[in-house]
Amino acid sequence: MLDADFFRRWLTAAAARVDREADRLTELDSAIGDADHGTNMQRGFTAVIAVLEKEAPQTPGAVLTLAGRQLISTVGGASGPLYGTLLRRTGKALGDDAEVTPGQLADALRTGVAAVAQLGGARAGDKTMLDALEPAVEALGDSTDSFAAARDAAEAGALATVPLQARKGRASYLGERSIGHQDPGATSSALLIAALADAAEVAG
Ligand code: ADP
Ligand code: MG
Repeated sequence: MLDADFFRRWLTAAAARVDREADRLTELDSAIGDADHGTNMQRGFTAVIAVLEKEAPQTPGAVLTLAGRQLISTVGGASGPLYGTLLRRTGKALGDDAEVTPGQLADALRTGVAAVAQLGGARAGDKTMLDALEPAVEALGDSTDSFAAARDAAEAGALATVPLQARKGRASYLGERSIGHQDPGATSSALLIAALADAAEVAG
């Protein structure tokens, strides 16, 4: 079972990965965007960790909805509302239970990813974060063992954005010139999913 502490560990691991990879995310965004994705994500996740410490939410759903709200209010770029929606809607789908199963988390994340697709009007193949998130949630199952498969699927999805032409977001303004670069948001999504596997490993 996954409790509020597990979800705190997930977001803490995500913040650590974002810190480590911030320069790379910004570099990717400088090729097909405006060179702010690493700093956007760093600002957002630093604020998430701070608010979780301050308010100490007690259920998985409360941890994720609080984190999502914080991302929306601290990240100016397109990715803030999108990631904020992902966490808020996933948290809402988890409800008020003190502990949830990996299968419940998988279902809730599918709801969250669908909300991201609806908000941004994108789908898989558009060279966005959905190219990592959709394969990741498809790989999630009833056990924490599936977190590693989700991590690998997200990583593969992010790599597969390289030959795609962007159809949504700032990179789409480049048309064919967006081809040949890895999408920054798909790359950060792979970090968030990898952090899920990090948190499960610590849990044993
Ligand atoms: P901005 O584009 O406003 O500078 P960021 O640089 O923080 O915001 O985030 C860019 C990332 O956001 C892109 O690489 C892409 O993955 C994601 N993104 C942008 N628009 C959309 C959308 N409509 N749907 C899904 N993801 C999107
Ligand atoms: Mg940007």
